[in-house]
Amino acid sequence: MSEVLDLIIVGGGPAGLTAGLYASRGGLKNVVMFEKSVFGGQITKSSEIENYPGVSEVITGLELMEKWPEQAARFGVKQEFAGVKRISKIKDIFHAELEDGTLLKSKSVIVCTGSNPKKSGVEGEEEFYGRGVSFCATCDGFFYRNKEVAVLGGGDAALEEALFLTNICAKVYLIHRRDEFRASPATVQRVKKNAKIELVLNASVKKIYGDASGVSGLIIADKEGNERDLKTPGVFVFVGMKVNNEVLLQEDGGFLCEMSKGGEVVVDLNMRTSLQGLFAAGDIRINAAKQVVCAAGDGAAAAIGAINYLESWHE
Ligand code: FAD
Ligand code: NAP
Repeated sequence: MSEVLDLIIVGGGPAGLTAGLYASRGGLKNVVMFEKSVFGGQITKSSEIENYPGVSEVITGLELMEKWPEQAARFGVKQEFAGVKRISKIKDIFHAELEDGTLLKSKSVIVCTGSNPKKSGVEGEEEFYGRGVSFCATCDGFFYRNKEVAVLGGGDAALEEALFLTNICAKVYLIHRRDEFRASPATVQRVKKNAKIELVLNASVKKIYGDASGVSGLIIADKEGNERDLKTPGVFVFVGMKVNNEVLLQEDGGFLCEMSKGGEVVVDLNMRTSLQGLFAAGDIRINAAKQVVCAAGDGAAAAIGAINYLESWHE
């Protein structure tokens, strides 16, 4: 591992791909991006996106992201399919340990590892994951064609994916623990107008049950404890996201840079972390708006920050 790269980008979602585009187009020669799952990031799992500026038609997340890797590659960023286990820093050099044990060195790093769906903790969620419990309507909605399904959550993801499921399923129970939604008002209106969605509010899920073939239904309860049995073979869980900060975790149990109480990376307006040469962009950073356009903007700012940092690099 003698070569020292200019920049390592961890994560190939909207933030990472934009950082790669800006860094390589901005003149950095030795830029490598690592993505462990799908180039395009979590939005590739979304059934529709209608708020990316300049794209006025409603398209899927996969369609939105299709050309981003190719555009970034045109300017020279190397895109590798690999998971990064840990980033550490020894003197002025960052060390990246890949999940397969490979070690790389770099002068700067941008962490764009985004976030992943949270689990609700409901009984049966773990047991039936992949057998009736899903975190992705685009991926699994088709299995419930003309059947009834339940959606858990009250944010943008739950409501938007519930709407998507009405195109495929006979009926969607939208189960939320309060009677007010976190989702944007326009989406709430669309949900309320959709005859295929039954709102089940102020309700908690007691358990998801089934047998060897998968989910058979779920038991919900209202605030008074009255229970109801919904016999749906599919349960979609959208109860928020958890940031992927593991790459910054050090062997001593601390983090490489300052983090918020919620585990997000603390950055300034230029996406600089508390550690020189280390940047963070997108959903992983503190106060992220958790939007594709914002993640892309962060990625661009972080790349410009890295270019400036490397201009004053001493050999
Ligand atoms: P991510 O998209 O999460 O990308 C991070 C990438 O890093 C992932 O591909 C991951 O595999 C990779 N990674 C993580 N750890 C490692 C590692 N150790 N090594 C290598 N790679 C790693 N936003 C909107 O603007 N409009 C919408 O309509 C919208 N709809 C949404 C619908 C759903 C269902 C969801 C879940 C999100 C939606 N969002 C929407 C939010 C949007 O997807 C995110 O804000 C955006 O994707 C964040 O981009 P990111 O690059 O920061 O992170
Ligand atoms: P979110 O906004 O955090 O909403 C999570 C929802 O799940 C909340 O309604 C919450 O209830 C509920 N919840 C949390 N834990 C629960 C549990 N254990 N059991 C039952 N319910 C639980 O998450 P999200 O919808 O995934 O969105 C994440 C981010 O991405 C947000 O910033 C969102 O705006 C963004 N996003 C944007 C778009 C878009 O722009 N179109 C689309 C999708 C996502 P309470 O309300 O009671 O807390």
